[in-house]
Amino acid sequence: MMTENLYSLLLPSDPRDDARPALQTGTGAAWSYGDLRRTAGRIARLLHESGVGRGDRVAAQVEKSPEALCLYLATLQIGAVYLPLNTAYTLTELRYFLGDAEPAVFVGPPQSAAEVAALDPAPAGCLFTLDGDGGGSLTAACRDLDPWDGAADMAADDVAAILYTSGTTGRPKGAMITHGNLGYTTRTLAGLWGIADTDVLLHALPVFHAHGLFIAANPVLFARGSMLFLSRFSADRVIELLPRATLFMGVPTLYTRLLADPRLTPDLCRGMRLFTCGSAPLSAETFARFEECSGHRILERYGMTETAIITTNPLDGERVPGTVGFPLPGLEVRVADEGGRPLPPGGEIGGLELRGPNVFKGYWRMPEKTAAEFRPDGFFITGDLARRAADGRISIVSRAKDLIISGGYNVYPREVESVLGRIEGVRDAAVIGVPHPDFGEGVVAVIERQPDAPPPDPAVVIAQAARELAGYKLPKIVVVQEALPRNAMGKVQKNELRAQHKDVFTLPAPAAPRG
Ligand code: AMP
Repeated sequence: MMTENLYSLLLPSDPRDDARPALQTGTGAAWSYGDLRRTAGRIARLLHESGVGRGDRVAAQVEKSPEALCLYLATLQIGAVYLPLNTAYTLTELRYFLGDAEPAVFVGPPQSAAEVAALDPAPAGCLFTLDGDGGGSLTAACRDLDPWDGAADMAADDVAAILYTSGTTGRPKGAMITHGNLGYTTRTLAGLWGIADTDVLLHALPVFHAHGLFIAANPVLFARGSMLFLSRFSADRVIELLPRATLFMGVPTLYTRLLADPRLTPDLCRGMRLFTCGSAPLSAETFARFEECSGHRILERYGMTETAIITTNPLDGERVPGTVGFPLPGLEVRVADEGGRPLPPGGEIGGLELRGPNVFKGYWRMPEKTAAEFRPDGFFITGDLARRAADGRISIVSRAKDLIISGGYNVYPREVESVLGRIEGVRDAAVIGVPHPDFGEGVVAVIERQPDAPPPDPAVVIAQAARELAGYKLPKIVVVQEALPRNAMGKVQKNELRAQHKDVFTLPAPAAPRG
């Protein structure tokens, strides 16, 4: 039987591919598929000699580089479990992840190596370092090793990676993602998005998240395409390199930043084949402005760490702004009521649930959390509220936990945000519910102002929104800020905003000064 090891799909041993270009870094270093295979093979040998076996975790908190990608590939190759960590995590956060995942190897940046070694409790596994230029003890230790050949024989159900996702409350949960999950996603996306060996992906996303690693890099390697591999996003570099690319994958904030650059024109993008967007909602406004400036209609898709991609707009066919398209083939997706009963298509809002080959195996060492997020019939409860149109297209309305109930009425933040987003001087808006003595929750809008325009006046914002929205949906308070708090994927951190503004309706107004 064929192995299900994802490595065999991404880097099969085929001498015809050896000279084929795989990556070019921002500093111009070129890597062929043969280079990737040799470096991954050397790291695989080192991991093996360090005692890493099947199922052992290899944790990496490393800057993006070709060597970091090879560390991921090497881990797959030997049947170990790759555990990428956000480079922004502090030592305190790192201590939690190392304690929870008990990796056999941790690879971190050289500058914090001494502090990591001194953590209490001490990390159990071997420690190596890797910097953004590919230097460090990891590459030094494997320089003269013979590349490991072949790949461990893995079953579809074997875990390939653990990605921590932070819930709103409680500890981050490690989503266990299998070789079968990733094999399905890789093949399906390459097929649906027509990724071919002629494609050049301008890769500007981090590689510690599912988007950059599983959705962007995997299908391109599988198709033997190549990547312009930027260590981080910079609008300048992306504008400079777009004429050499055919594909770009982004999150909404990357698109708004590109739109702020007058050099973004249809002429600059004439060699481009496809722009995709996901990880957070893309506003209809950004979609329309991007089409105007680049001549391309962004293909929006939707997914999450636990499932990779769930739905996508079509490559050929209408891409409808504000919708995330159709479920991937082979997935069973339902919009259901609170008891998991499917709602009829045609508009009612419900929870999005799914079953299929992309759904993760469970949360690492958290059987109760895992059980709580699956229905008895095996459907995974995404925690997103969605609507399914009569033609089958899905729209994401909000995270269930972001739904606001004000005076007994449901307010869907995204509807209000899209109205606010069209008001002059507003670059982005986040609408949250916070405790209110009369209404249960009161609607608050936090606005990110357009940097080069006068700040919007809250009273004018409310008056303009009132032309389109029912009174109960209107923000009672509008706060204008320079920037909204975002995570590394550009997603607005609503928890943070809710915490900041939790007392706005409940604290007594300050006493008037006397005298
Ligand atoms: P993460 O696991 O960090 O990738 O976050 C997954 C969540 O991001 C999903 O459950 C959605 O709430 C949100 N998300 C991802 N893609 C989209 C999209 N295209 N539109 C709206 N929300 C999205």
